[in-house]
Amino acid sequence: MQADKFGARTAVPREATGLRREEGHFRIGLSDGGEAAALGVIVASGARYRRLDVESLGRFEGVSVHYAATEAEAQRCEGEEVAVVGGGNSAGQAALFLAARTRRVYLLIRGEDLGKSMSRYLVDRIVDARNVELLANTEVRELGGEDRLEGVVVEDNRSGSRRTLGARDLFFFIGAQANTGWLEGTVELDERGFVLTGSELDGSAFDEASWRERSREPFLLETSMPGVFAAGDVRSGSIKRCASAVGEGAMAVRLVHQYLADAGGQRKA
Ligand SMILES: Cc1cc2nc3c(=O)[nH]c(=O)nc-3n(C[C@H](O)[C@H](O)[C@H](O)COP(=O)(O)OP(=O)(O)OC[C@H]3O[C@@H](n4cnc5c(N)ncnc54)[C@H](O)[C@@H]3O)c2cc1C
Repeated sequence: MQADKFGARTAVPREATGLRREEGHFRIGLSDGGEAAALGVIVASGARYRRLDVESLGRFEGVSVHYAATEAEAQRCEGEEVAVVGGGNSAGQAALFLAARTRRVYLLIRGEDLGKSMSRYLVDRIVDARNVELLANTEVRELGGEDRLEGVVVEDNRSGSRRTLGARDLFFFIGAQANTGWLEGTVELDERGFVLTGSELDGSAFDEASWRERSREPFLLETSMPGVFAAGDVRSGSIKRCASAVGEGAMAVRLVHQYLADAGGQRKA
């Protein structure tokens, strides 16, 4: 309703396929061959969370299968057994957080060595934690239960032997892929494909002619292309939660106004 009130026009279900700057305007290519022209752009195309290819995963999502470990999830599995899948720092932090609230945490990694992908301090804390069991070379094969998860069948990927864990909640921390294919070659991305903004941009972005003529550094959520902002999951370093994505969106709108005022001042000068 608010978007309507401010005159927003929606282009559903068209996909943005490219972005370029031309004679002071941004032109966003659309999948139907059309274009949208704008004086400022906010990129909020999010990320796709990696999912395991396990039968009936979708049935348990939001009930017993989670992609975040916050107070809300911890309360749901208080005193129970849970399994965490992933070998990165986010998986390690989640395992330790859940260990304080649950009976047992199984930490599942596909590889041999947790230290290859997780910071040493987290590995040490996991090894020391009394109720965290690390299962290396282990992959999820089946999920049991009707309305709620009642067991997780896992397989040792070297021997092929299987066992059933009594976990009633399953947490995935296996990464996300940014929806930035349409931006490649236009704005700077980090090594994982998320959009770099503000102080995360290194000096090379400022050498561009478009920055030199502005003689300012990028605003907080501004990308390497002046006037193009990024908000939410697509942005490198963002928190990847609903509330933060909405908050960043609101901030980005405010910054677009600041950019337009600045650009207007420059045009007059
Ligand atoms: C299973 C799951 C559970 C979650 N649970 C929680 C939770 O309980 N609490 C919480 O706070 N967060 C949760 N999150 C995270 C939360 O969903 C995200 O942080 C939030 O949705 C990010 O908002 P966003 O607007 O940045 O991106 P998104 O919500 O991903 O929106 C991006 C939109 O852009 C569209 N898009 C992508 N590329 C293009 C393109 N080229 N052209 C046009 N449109 C495009 C996408 O289709 C999508 O509609 C969960 C995420 C997942 C996957």
